[in-house]
Amino acid sequence: METILFLAHTEADGTLGRAAMESLTAAKSLAEATGGTLVAGLVGENVQLAANAIAGAGATKVLGVSGADFAQPRYATDAAAAEALCKAAEATIVIAAGDSRWSRVLPGVGHRLGGRADLHITQVNGDGGVSVKRWFYRQRMEGSFSRAQRPWLLGIDPGTQTPWQGGAGETAVEPVAVDAGTRTAVTGVKAPNTDEQTIRPDAEVLFVAGAGWTKKQADGQVHLDIAEQRILGFLKGAKASLGSSKSLVDLSSEGGQVLSFMTHLNQVGQTGATPRHPKGLATCCHGEEPHVVGWRFINERRAINTDANCGWAQGKADVLYVADAFEVMEKVNALLAE
Ligand SMILES: Cc1cc2nc3c(=O)[nH]c(=O)nc-3n(C[C@H](O)[C@H](O)[C@H](O)COP(=O)(O)OP(=O)(O)OC[C@H]3O[C@@H](n4cnc5c(N)ncnc54)[C@H](O)[C@@H]3O)c2cc1C
Repeated sequence: METILFLAHTEADGTLGRAAMESLTAAKSLAEATGGTLVAGLVGENVQLAANAIAGAGATKVLGVSGADFAQPRYATDAAAAEALCKAAEATIVIAAGDSRWSRVLPGVGHRLGGRADLHITQVNGDGGVSVKRWFYRQRMEGSFSRAQRPWLLGIDPGTQTPWQGGAGETAVEPVAVDAGTRTAVTGVKAPNTDEQTIRPDAEVLFVAGAGWTKKQADGQVHLDIAEQRILGFLKGAKASLGSSKSLVDLSSEGGQVLSFMTHLNQVGQTGATPRHPKGLATCCHGEEPHVVGWRFINERRAINTDANCGWAQGKADVLYVADAFEVMEKVNALLAE
């Protein structure tokens, strides 16, 4: 029988984040499908709030590694905490959110325990033994596989599960002592303001900007300043995530005029990212196949292009607005501001 450890770290306010709740869905359904035991292992400065929040999830026990050392993400302390929790739970399967904090330590922890770790898992199945699914080759192939090694540590890709929702209550936490003995002190975090962040995986809408924003427009001029205003205005107003075509992010290396906030991290497509959002809006982007393959997880697709014969018109978008994106986005931003 499998012992399934739901491994989670708390957020700064002591709660569990969305990605953690998604991995709890996977852990709980695996425990139910295999008839296994579900154990929770929490890491953070204080884990009581998180333990209470998952009281209704059906864990037979809740283990906790807590203290000031475990407040901040840090390889040494996170790996030591995860290793101790896996041992204390006698876990055979470990399920954690595939966020940056756990993705960094799971492979190392798997090695220390003589097990195996797999990241980017999108589905966990428990019928007739444990098997998982993930995408390979930049989301071109979906593979299903299982492993005999235990413990098997799985990082669940955020956005692939429905976050667990259930009753809260008072839960006793069994403390697990860890002497991390780290020499690394976290002195602070340097991160852009939320408003300056353009990649928002949880956003309702993906807004994709293409190279058209930097091209000469009907008046024969380039209007990069207006393009920046239109794009940033929409991102702020709709709390959208920003994607880009390859041509647009490549312009900087070719010495072309570029949008100051755009980097290669924003690129969507065959050689870029494959984000997951309920809706997507492509603007000034031609909609060529190497770009559109990155839209496979975008459910409702719309595009704005002055060219009625652009790629989006070839069955790639649900709605194509044949219009000037500068004008359309000015109007949309004005409506959002209202
Ligand atoms: C192996 C390989 C891998 C690739 N991988 C990727 C990838 O991962 N991602 C990716 O994006 N591309 C990728 N590409 C490149 C891809 O084929 C296209 O070249 C690229 O996506 C084109 O970018 P674009 O649509 O922004 O620019 P363009 O093709 O220059 O299109 C600009 C569009 O803007 C429109 N436009 C201009 N002004 C306006 C306006 N005012 N209002 C509305 N529309 C306007 C024009 O009509 C035009 O359709 C790859 C190519 C290869 C060969």
